[in-house]
Amino acid sequence: MTFRNISKEALAGSVTLGVIFVAGYLFGKKKSSRMSITKSHCGGQDDPLMQYVLNHSMREHPVLKSLRLRTMEDSWKIMMVACEQAQFMANLAKLIKTKKAIEIGVYTGYNTLNIALTLPDDGVIVACDISEKYTDIGKPFWKEAGVEQKIDLRIQPALKTLDELLAAGQAETFDFAFIDADKVNVENYYEKCLLLVRKGGVIAVDNVLWGGKVLNPSPDDEDTVAIDKLNKKLLRDTRINLSMLTVGDGLTLAFKL
Ligand code: CA
Repeated sequence: MTFRNISKEALAGSVTLGVIFVAGYLFGKKKSSRMSITKSHCGGQDDPLMQYVLNHSMREHPVLKSLRLRTMEDSWKIMMVACEQAQFMANLAKLIKTKKAIEIGVYTGYNTLNIALTLPDDGVIVACDISEKYTDIGKPFWKEAGVEQKIDLRIQPALKTLDELLAAGQAETFDFAFIDADKVNVENYYEKCLLLVRKGGVIAVDNVLWGGKVLNPSPDDEDTVAIDKLNKKLLRDTRINLSMLTVGDGLTLAFKL
């Protein structure tokens, strides 16, 4: 869990790509910054410059803030996506006029709510998870924010949900996908999302650096092997353009051609 957790919180999204790259530089240079973000999920309080970045870019919706604070009471709180990363993805989703989104890996639904808040009234986010234990934490907040009708929560293996969407004729109808679940299936998730996302749509893949383990994958470390395999595959994947952001644990953005 360690590396997954680091990536969840360390990723720095922000209002602009410029800011995200500044943040990436900071994270790359100062491990203390990374850890402070991990602790707070919206912090960097141990690094004055990172705190400045957050103080001058975060516009967290009040219900999102409430859900974040509630999530901080959970023992698995370190799995929550960092608020600044979530804001970056919301801005990206809005930029491409996202009406239909997919999220693989919900936890307490902070990012689910975050994306739902950017959707138009008839928009939807299909949220995939295998347990209601944590999604139940988020549901009252989804309702409080008035967007619960936009969240289509599917509690079953995500691959099953993605196959059902494809079977229902929804290929190339989604605008944005976020993959942040079990790593052994990351390539399967990517391939199915690539079928479901329209041309010009974006697939965001979390944890693509896996705490640095991708530099020297151990053959018996199936998570690292799976991530490294996907990274190598995306480099030569002519179906997409891509950027690998060196923030936190790495976030790849695949732009479908
Ligand atoms: Ca993650």
